Amino acid sequence: MSEVARKEVEKVGIAACQGIAIGRAYIVDRRQLKVPKRKIDADEVEVESERFRRALDASERQLEKIKQKIEEREKDHYAIISAYQLILRDEHIVKNTLNSIRDELINAEWALRNSVEQIKAVFDGIEDDYFRERGSDVDFVGERILRNLMGRDGQVTPPPDAIVIAHDLSPADTAMLYRAAVAGIATDVGGKTSHTAIIARGYDTPAVVGTEDVSLHVGRDDLVIVDGTKGVVIINPTPETVAAYREQARREIVAGAAQLARSSEPAVTQDGTKVTLLANLDHLVEAEGAVTRGAEGVGLLRTEYYFMGAEGPPSEDEYFRYAVDAMKIMDGRPVTFRTLDLGSDKVPPEFVEQHDEPNPALGLRSIRLCLTKAMRPMFRSQLRGLLRASVEGNMKLMFPMISGMEELRSAKEVVEEVKQELRQDGIAFDEDLPLGIMIEMPSAAVIADHLAKETDFFSIGTNDLIQYTMAVDRMNEFVSYLYAPLHPALLRLISTVIQSADKEEIPVSICGEMAGDPMVALVLVGLGLRSLSMHSVAMCAVKEAICSSEIGELETLAKEVLEMSDASAIRIHVEAFANRNIEAK
Ligand code: PEP
Ligand code: MG
Repeated sequence: MSEVARKEVEKVGIAACQGIAIGRAYIVDRRQLKVPKRKIDADEVEVESERFRRALDASERQLEKIKQKIEEREKDHYAIISAYQLILRDEHIVKNTLNSIRDELINAEWALRNSVEQIKAVFDGIEDDYFRERGSDVDFVGERILRNLMGRDGQVTPPPDAIVIAHDLSPADTAMLYRAAVAGIATDVGGKTSHTAIIARGYDTPAVVGTEDVSLHVGRDDLVIVDGTKGVVIINPTPETVAAYREQARREIVAGAAQLARSSEPAVTQDGTKVTLLANLDHLVEAEGAVTRGAEGVGLLRTEYYFMGAEGPPSEDEYFRYAVDAMKIMDGRPVTFRTLDLGSDKVPPEFVEQHDEPNPALGLRSIRLCLTKAMRPMFRSQLRGLLRASVEGNMKLMFPMISGMEELRSAKEVVEEVKQELRQDGIAFDEDLPLGIMIEMPSAAVIADHLAKETDFFSIGTNDLIQYTMAVDRMNEFVSYLYAPLHPALLRLISTVIQSADKEEIPVSICGEMAGDPMVALVLVGLGLRSLSMHSVAMCAVKEAICSSEIGELETLAKEVLEMSDASAIRIHVEAFANRNIEAK
């Protein structure tokens, strides 16, 4: 298809993973198709008409393939597919659509939808039930052509180097992405800490989320640029735009290589305070990259991604092997396994029907779900597998979404029961395995002093802590402007948690995405954190920021921001500090 007549369109979203990707669009859509409506210029008529003809051809080929697969005995089905093929070439669809593209100057999808609706209106008026119901055949054929027009033909594996365009991505889609090595991602929904964004960073794949409607502007195989640094998506860029972006991508690669060369150096402030940098991992394939970028261990391994990628709930033995593999790759460095954090935005397909909750982020998710009677056996087999592996490496275990003492005690009780079973079975495990919790609810942060007495370590999960403190859905692009890591309420909570941990002398780290923002990381170190866990892509930049600071000035900075009243003022203050620091050193 000629690209000359397609106009360059820019969509602004939220920068989710830095870097530039240039490639052809591959569209993933799990929703009901929403027909894009666009007025076109006269010089686009031929392009739109050609797109429509190609979609007809593709639909024809697909129907023919289905027919070939049907054996002789499925005669009825065979006849239906033949009927579909006739409808596909019916002039009421073909001619009407082409005419409306030309006469009404509208895009192919819109024109097709109008033709299908006109034909359906005729069927709806027929009295005979049998013939009236044939209207649904027209619908089916119309839908198939539409899917081909929009590149949503049900294919599940994008070609390597494709740019994935989606309204949203499910966990299953993301598993497919990492197998396919896609070049970039752009979605309609999502915020900086939505799982699409986190996964993109895990694979170091340039991504822009929260564009609101990019999926309605991109057609199959359109040339797309994803600028994950600025948070911009450019559809059908001009050759000049492509050339400028290629040059920028080249410069970014050179700068990245220079940073990587210093990856084995520790993060130490100018006056000698060491900060441990750990990696957040969703999949084990990310682990080697994390080590290369200088990770001193894994501060958060989201085991639910292993669960969701498996054919069914993994067995105890599978968890054992998974854990051993993880620790082997990390080669003696600590690996913090978080027990299953399912529900809310991480919903395995088979759960969708069972757990159709009106408000999943506040519903039966995470540790609550694991402690239900129905899920407990699955939770126990995960614990058994992990505990057995605990003697094979440097393991830590932590529970997500602990809301208070009762839940902590219930979760620990299950661990104790499993340990007792293992002892009875004569199976070895690490009796001193550190058992920690995530602090990701305001309730837990406020009573951190109590929780610290009954747990071995804290890991502050600010992705959820921000969501629950500010009542801002982390997935919702419409309220993402309120999702402020430097909100004074959040900084106070973090400070409370650090003080409580220090008082009980238990380690405290942070594994929310904000730790990967170099400027924010300086505030966190100033507040007293000496361990930060982040997506490893961010590690070099965070290290650079720490190495160019002095601990005294970071502590002063933290004291200053704790006195301030609003997130915007804090951000400006911290930005000014970080810029001064970079200029001075
Ligand atoms: C968090 O909530 O900060 C966190 C690290 O966990 P997740 O992003 O998996 O919810
Ligand atoms: Mg969380």
